[in-house]
Amino acid sequence: MKTLLVGEYRDGKLLNATYELVAFAQKLGADSAMFLVGSDSALPKYAGTLYLADAAKYNDFNPAVHKQLLLDVIAKEQPELIVFSHSSYGWDLAPRVAMALNAAQISEVVDVVDNTFVVPSCNSKLRRDVQSKTAQTVVTLQGGAFGLSGEPSGTANVVKVDTDKAAQVEFGGYEAVEKGGVDLTKAEIIVSAGRGIGKPENLAMIASLAEALGGEYGASRPVVDAEWAEHNRQVGTTGQTVSPKLYVACGISGAIQHLAGMKKSEFIIAINTDKDAPIGEVADVLVVADLKELVPALTAKLQSL
Ligand SMILES: Cc1cc2nc3c(=O)[nH]c(=O)nc-3n(C[C@H](O)[C@H](O)[C@H](O)COP(=O)(O)OP(=O)(O)OC[C@H]3O[C@@H](n4cnc5c(N)ncnc54)[C@H](O)[C@@H]3O)c2cc1C
Repeated sequence: MKTLLVGEYRDGKLLNATYELVAFAQKLGADSAMFLVGSDSALPKYAGTLYLADAAKYNDFNPAVHKQLLLDVIAKEQPELIVFSHSSYGWDLAPRVAMALNAAQISEVVDVVDNTFVVPSCNSKLRRDVQSKTAQTVVTLQGGAFGLSGEPSGTANVVKVDTDKAAQVEFGGYEAVEKGGVDLTKAEIIVSAGRGIGKPENLAMIASLAEALGGEYGASRPVVDAEWAEHNRQVGTTGQTVSPKLYVACGISGAIQHLAGMKKSEFIIAINTDKDAPIGEVADVLVVADLKELVPALTAKLQSL
């Protein structure tokens, strides 16, 4: 099988998610080439052919132009799989490419088993197994689903690519989200609240435990979506990526999007009523208990020390 990996570059830097595409190709045992609109000064460590277009000329993103650059490489490489990250870049570009190729698109892949792609369904409560019926297939990979076993290595064989395609939109640049309140990435201890806290009033007990431990409190996305906690406290693919010394996940099931943001924590304690909750797969300690009983008791004990 031949894959074309679509790397990502932003503001002068190669994005680490690019290596998740390499891990995916490795998992498939597939040959790969890479396409990147980037820069000579930020090349991936990659042992293969890298088709490189100049971001200074074609911008970090410009849909029609990047699509044309990519289609030219696809025509040359004839990959069976064209692989994007499930990122804002991938969300925008992948369907354009799939449409142009009349190819199937399978989005948000979290695993692949015997040419069957596994994708989340029903807000990640279920998973669907999907197979492509077209000769070429465009896939996007969920962040954190595929990881390299070692450090990235290799020197790319760079092939420069160009296009005359005129841009239809002007790229204005990226605007950083205004950072207010807490910076979870700096916290050494994080106690996070999941939907299992049940109601907004119970966030206070999570915050108290975090304070008793000398840390900060975080939250899973449903807690933030329900406006029980601010977005700058969200951990996961659409929130913060954290790696504290201690992460305590309270009432969090362990969806892949949450794990992607915290699985590099040094020590993980999960408190969950469900002994089979997926968070148990990354937790060093899984306490099967009702957080509403355990968390206040733990906080009281810490405060009494
Ligand atoms: C594109 C996309 C991006 C996403 N980005 C993020 C992200 O950045 N961060 C994120 O967190 N999610 C993200 N999600 C959502 C993610 O898929 C999950 O839906 C979410 O992480 C689930 O949150 P949860 O674990 O708090 O809730 P649930 O999955 O509902 O889990 C609740 C858990 O609490 C346990 N529980 C219930 N009651 C108790 C109790 N009394 N005591 C102890 N345990 C209890 C249950 O057993 C269960 O395991 C994203 C989804 C998509 C599609």
